[in-house]
Amino acid sequence: MKKNDLIVLAILAAVLAGGLGLHLIQQREPPGVQGDRIAPGEAGYYGRGDTSAAPGPVTTVFWLSIDGVRPYYLSRAETPFLDRLMAEGAYSLEHEVVFPSLTFPTHVSQATGVSIREHGIPMNRFYDLETRRRHDYPGDSRLLEAEPIWITAARQGIRAASLDWVLAHGQTGEHTAEYFDPEFQRGLSDRERLDRLLAIWRADADPDPLRLVMGYIGAPDRAGHRYGPDSNEVVRAMEDTDALLREHYQAIVEHWETGRQPEDRLYFLITSDHGMSAVHTLINPYALTGLDGRDDVTLIAGGNVAHLYLDRRLSAADRENLLAATRDRLRDFDYLRAYRREELPPEWEYDHPTRAGDLVVVLDPGYSFSGRPEGIRAAPEDVNGPRGMHGYHPEENPDMLTIALVHRHPEPLGGIDLGPIHSRQLHPTVAALLGIDPADGADGEPIVLERDESEPGS
Ligand SMILES: [Zn+2]
Repeated sequence: MKKNDLIVLAILAAVLAGGLGLHLIQQREPPGVQGDRIAPGEAGYYGRGDTSAAPGPVTTVFWLSIDGVRPYYLSRAETPFLDRLMAEGAYSLEHEVVFPSLTFPTHVSQATGVSIREHGIPMNRFYDLETRRRHDYPGDSRLLEAEPIWITAARQGIRAASLDWVLAHGQTGEHTAEYFDPEFQRGLSDRERLDRLLAIWRADADPDPLRLVMGYIGAPDRAGHRYGPDSNEVVRAMEDTDALLREHYQAIVEHWETGRQPEDRLYFLITSDHGMSAVHTLINPYALTGLDGRDDVTLIAGGNVAHLYLDRRLSAADRENLLAATRDRLRDFDYLRAYRREELPPEWEYDHPTRAGDLVVVLDPGYSFSGRPEGIRAAPEDVNGPRGMHGYHPEENPDMLTIALVHRHPEPLGGIDLGPIHSRQLHPTVAALLGIDPADGADGEPIVLERDESEPGS
């Protein structure tokens, strides 16, 4: 069998295994007019945006997000592979994510490098007061109001594959990743997701290789919600994930090694979108607010945050009365805070003009919204969970801090504890690694991955 036949078979296998709608987008620019070159030696990174100019090291970034990994899990579970990455690489166990620490807003802030106010994805599910449309775990990348790294890369001539990342689906416009799905593929196992990603990378026969490959897996989050962060099920999910990653990293390195030059570098970046916290009380948002059944109010809750969107066709007086009455009612509960959009703490950068609610209700740690209680409140064990939740502000609930690990192949980074980092630094860091400019507004400092040799004792 010829090599080309094998490639076609590999693509077919990926399509059949994953139900994948494969999008192979033509290169937008001819070779030789690609992105700007990063200043040599800047921040100690290897990077080359312009592959036609002076030959130099080429960087590939493989960025994998694991949903819901609290650093505490690493001390509870046997995770030899992640331990090795940390010992040889650079890591943060104090990775602070945006508020609310929910999968959609946090992933999008990581990919775009900007606040929720700027990227416009405030929750996993949200409403838009202007379009009067509700979005539930949306897959439509046109909802993004800021540029994600896969577009930043494509715009500057870096070929990218972005599968399973929040809002990487159905990409349109002048610049897109080379590979993406039309919509999120539900029902795949983590192994199937990684297999698909690897199959696409291996089958890509373009002489200009993929240099940004992004994927997502989710087992630790599911175990954390269902059984709680202190459960044995979380330990098992982490150990299974560790073994899966070890196996795939081996395959990733082997594939990358084919055809690379001696100075080239592979960066394997593992991040998560939030931690996980034990829940002792579930709150039914409809029973709490007394707004069930009204068609002029849209109530959307996720984690410990609920948004009340008042129909803009209500008169100003009706809106004021409804807001005042609801706030009065909520004053009886000492485990929550209610903010009008314009009163949201400015440091949250959360007051999106049409996608933040007119009233935003935030529950204290230990409490989570859920539709399961019959009345206002119930214990998780009485309504079959969830026993773990996220959404809380990391400064208020440090259980929301998560992990970030970077491993460089073949030259290790040396086991650097990066200390506290912020999710909004990830976009500029990946841009620096690739030798391209970050998107407008992604103004976080790139994380410096090199050890400071001038530091005594380092
Ligand atoms: Zn979750």
